Formats: sequence, structure tokens, C-alpha cells
Amino acid sequence: MLQLEGAKTNTIKTKTVILACGSAASPSSGSDGSGYNLVKRLGIRVVKPLPALTALESDKKNMKLATGVRASGSVKIMAAGRVVSEDTGEIQFTDYGISGIPVFQVSRFAVRALEEGQKVEAQVDVAADIKEDELVSMLKCAVNTRKHQSVSESLSGMFNKKLVMMICKEIGIEGNSSASDINDDICQKLAKHMKSLRYHITGYKSNDYAQVCQGGVDVSELNDNLESVNNPGIFFAGELMDIDGRCGGYNLQWAWSSGAVAAKSAFDYCNRQE
Ligand SMILES: Cc1cc2nc3c(=O)[nH]c(=O)nc-3n(C[C@H](O)[C@H](O)[C@H](O)COP(=O)(O)OP(=O)(O)OC[C@H]3O[C@@H](n4cnc5c(N)ncnc54)[C@H](O)[C@@H]3O)c2cc1C
Repeated sequence: MLQLEGAKTNTIKTKTVILACGSAASPSSGSDGSGYNLVKRLGIRVVKPLPALTALESDKKNMKLATGVRASGSVKIMAAGRVVSEDTGEIQFTDYGISGIPVFQVSRFAVRALEEGQKVEAQVDVAADIKEDELVSMLKCAVNTRKHQSVSESLSGMFNKKLVMMICKEIGIEGNSSASDINDDICQKLAKHMKSLRYHITGYKSNDYAQVCQGGVDVSELNDNLESVNNPGIFFAGELMDIDGRCGGYNLQWAWSSGAVAAKSAFDYCNRQE
């Protein structure tokens, strides 16, 4: 018979328990990470919970110029000079850094690398579908046919004006300057920069904002029935365990699937005790 102390005034005697307390991500939605303490009291190892599927913070100069812009592109995370993850989709430019689904997808690797003290950089390509030489030709064509407009206006059919203002600033020209001043060399520089916007990643949005946690109950402490090896009769389900997935329903699927395994295993365990 297992005996777990729950609320101070209430002790429940039971043959088996399924722990499904969720993670520390998004505490306002219910689970606040208190389940980890319960697990630790059983002597089960917990891998440090860290945010995953979260936004990344940067100290990039001029990034506030593009606040609020959403652009289709790719993001690549470099940790200690090595590509550790990349994804494509709609990137959101914010006043603190970068966000959006592709950034969420790569964030767990950036967070882990930062925790390990590595230098982390995000490289954003806002013209991922276009080769650099083609992009140069497109930029030349746009500025040459709209000489009477500003650079940012002349390119506004291709890129968000605020994004162009930021990119221009970074290569040392004013986005408000005349398109007629933009020569082939500048088009080359613009294209190169658009394909490799560099963000030094200095931090990440905390568990308060993350959708999922990486870390949790060390799965080496569990058997195939999701039962604690050293605490027979204690089963686990969902995000409380050190398992996290990409955006796309994988985390919910894991919660449901592991819940089914844990429930069946606990049922079988009870029957064996009778
Ligand atoms: C904003 C947001 C969007 C998301 N979008 C997606 C998505 O699109 N696709 C996807 O796959 N995943 C998504 N997720 C992640 C997904 O919701 C979780 O991975 C999943 O809900 C985890 O299920 P769970 O049952 O393990 O934990 P939870 O759903 O967190 O449930 C845990 C429950 O246990 C309760 N509890 C906690 N501690 C205790 C305790 N000590 N005692 C008693 N009860 C306790 C909590 O109140 C809660 O009801 C999203 C998460 C967030 C926050």
C-alpha cells in the first residue's frame, strides 16, 4: 500500500499514483512546476526545467526599428560557432529580439546553449527563398524603376518598410535617402545583409511565457510502463517528464499517449496487487 501526503489536512491511501502535474511553463494556465518538488521527495532525479518553445532576447543595435514586423524567412541558431538548429516560417521582430513559430522551434537549443555558457547567435534570412544573386538583381530593378522614391519606399513591394529601414541603418545608409543614390555595390550589401541578419542572443523569455519546458523527470528513472524503477506503483504522464516536442501538436500528443500508457500500466499494477 502506498501512502502519499497530499494537502496538509488530507492523506490518501492508494495502491498506485499517476503523477501528471505538467511543467513550469505558463504557470497562469495551471501547472506551476510544483510537481517537481513532489517528485524530488520520492528521490527521483529531475533534469533542470528550462523554457522551450519561447522567444529569444538580443542586444542587437537598431532592432527596435523593426518592432512589430512579421516576415517570412529562416532562422539558424549558432552555438559556439556551430549550427545547432534551424527553421523557416513567419519570424516576428520585436523590441526585445525575435519571436514567432520558427524562433520557438529553435529556442530550446539556444536556451540550452546559453545555460551551458556558450556564445549564441541567431542568423535570420528574410529572403530565404531567393538566391543572393537573384536578390541583388531584384533590388537593382526596384531602385532603378523607382528613383523618385526613398529606398524603403522603392523596396516596399518586396519587404516591409520598417525592416528595410533597419537593414539600411545596419549597412550605414538612411532608409529615407533617395533610391537614385543606391548603386550596384549598395544593392549587393543590402542583399547580403538581408540574407544574414545577425542577432547576438543574450537571453530568452522565461517559463512565464514559454509554451513548454525542456527538462523534468529523468526518463532513465522510469521503465517502459512509465513507472518509477525505484518506486513501484508510481507512474508518470505528460510534460512532467523530460520530454518536449516541436510546435505542431507533438506535446499534446505526448501528454495523451503517455497518459494512456500510464493509466493502463497503473490498472495492471493494481490487478497484480490483488
Ligand atoms: C499557450 C500554450 C500553447 C500551447 N500550444 C500547444 C500546441 O499547439 N500543441 C501542443 O502540442 N502543445 C501545446 N502546448 C503545450 C501543451 O499544452 C502541454 O504540453 C500539455 O498540456 C501538457 O499536458 P500535461 O497534462 O502534462 O500538463 P498540463 O496540461 O499542464 O496539466 C497539468 C495539470 O496538473 C495540475 N497540477 C499541477 N501541479 C499539481 C499538483 N501539485 N497537484 C495537483 N494538480 C496539479 C495543473 O493545474 C493542471 O491542471 C501549449 C502550451 C501553452 C502554455
